[in-house]
Amino acid sequence: THVLKIEDLRVNVGDKPILRGVNLTLRHGETHALMGPNGSGKSTLGLAIMGHPGYEVVGGSIELDGQDVLEMEVDQRARAGLFMAFQRPMAIPGVKMADFLRHATTNVRNPDRKEGEELIPMREFRKELKERMAHLRMDTEFARRYVNDGFSGGEMKRAEILQLAMLHPKFAILDETDSGLDADAVRLASESIADIGREKMGLLIITHHDKLLVHNPPEYTHVMLGGRLVETGGKELAEELHEKGYDRIRAAYPDAE
Ligand code: ADP
Ligand code: MG
Ligand code: MG
Repeated sequence: THVLKIEDLRVNVGDKPILRGVNLTLRHGETHALMGPNGSGKSTLGLAIMGHPGYEVVGGSIELDGQDVLEMEVDQRARAGLFMAFQRPMAIPGVKMADFLRHATTNVRNPDRKEGEELIPMREFRKELKERMAHLRMDTEFARRYVNDGFSGGEMKRAEILQLAMLHPKFAILDETDSGLDADAVRLASESIADIGREKMGLLIITHHDKLLVHNPPEYTHVMLGGRLVETGGKELAEELHEKGYDRIRAAYPDAE
């Protein structure tokens, strides 16, 4: 089984320590919820795993199936099966969703492919994309639009769910994939993620709402405070925090922030 293992991870942004020793092990097939107040470092953890420039790892390790992730370039991490749906996704004007997905899907399925080598055959890819989109109740027109260019908040999230469905990552980090969506869109996104999840991934879900977690009940809930995971529990911990907020956590760990 696939394992993503994070040990004593320390990350600076500029000169500022943001993550101050994070330990987390995700196994294939598990769903973990990552909660914590704004600014506690949740997105930083995801971005550091993906190798985002500007998030400097100053200590600790990240291993995927025993391989050193910190040694990998950003695109190698994606090819190795790591995926993150960003809180604020980037637009790629001039690149159509379908073309972007065909490249990304080819690279993930064929990690040793060199730039310029063949892509997944067009017919095969189109067929699969069409099936996936129908399954996710998406209009196929959507794939002809430029990546995130002029997308509404809801469309960006849908584009990420389509990426998730096509790429089949080993591990997916969903950073507030439900933020800015109306109730129907959250339900559809939650069901879609649950549906994709059945094909076996490790999921790390960062969320402030309980909807995503109702359809994707976490085996583990972690609470981040001041750049450390201060508590881990089951799904009842997520329910408690959704209901009551972080007062108890802050009181229990007064020196964390
Ligand atoms: P969360 O996702 O839990 O709300 P973040 O990981 O986004 O928290 O941020 C943690 C801390 O790191 C915050 O104090 C934030 O201001 C800081 N930070 C994160 N990214 C940047 C950045 N690119 N530039 C400056 N500060 C940042
Ligand atoms: Mg965040
Ligand atoms: Mg899979």
